[in-house]
Amino acid sequence: MKGYIQVYTGNGKGKTTAALGLAFRAAGAGLRVFIGQFIKMGDYSEIKALARFSDLITVKQFGQGRFIKGKPSLEDMSSAASGLKEIQERLLAGEFDVVIVEEGNVAVSAGLFSEKELLDLMDRKPPQVEMIITGRGALPSVIEKADLVTEMKEIKHYYHQGVVARVGIEK
Ligand code: ATP
Ligand code: MG
Repeated sequence: MKGYIQVYTGNGKGKTTAALGLAFRAAGAGLRVFIGQFIKMGDYSEIKALARFSDLITVKQFGQGRFIKGKPSLEDMSSAASGLKEIQERLLAGEFDVVIVEEGNVAVSAGLFSEKELLDLMDRKPPQVEMIITGRGALPSVIEKADLVTEMKEIKHYYHQGVVARVGIEK
């Protein structure tokens, strides 16, 4: 089966959950999924849920678990660099049918790796692998190279009413 490159971006809710939904569906079909999460680290509920599918879905987190304000720290940079390298290896090794680059767009805008590095990763995708890149602020070059782009458009979000991320719903 030919694989495509999908991008889920925009300011509205649903980018990460769409990618997780796809992982769930793929696993149901016996496809092997690799999820590499940038920025994040820690106890997200999806990590616990995905542990139940560990025969088909592998998740790795490459973040430091804190917000990056301004210039990323050396630690932020080095864990993102090793994450990118690992995703590249996993992509090329042929062990996975679906590879999800979670918050890949945000990693670029935060300066964790370059636009060119993300575009190179997209170029290296083997034909049969499906690649999903999530995160707000997808660059025009990334949109151009992708085969499918969905923008989650925020019509309303309770975030603006001061509702922070809730366990089981946002994290
Ligand atoms: P989900 O994981 O629910 O599918 P998402 O992946 O589309 O959401 P992200 O962009 O990854 O959303 O947002 C992560 C968190 O940022 C949200 O859980 C929310 O608490 C917070 N957030 C939501 N809207 C905004 C906003 N407009 N500005 C800043 N932070 C926001
Ligand atoms: Mg997200």
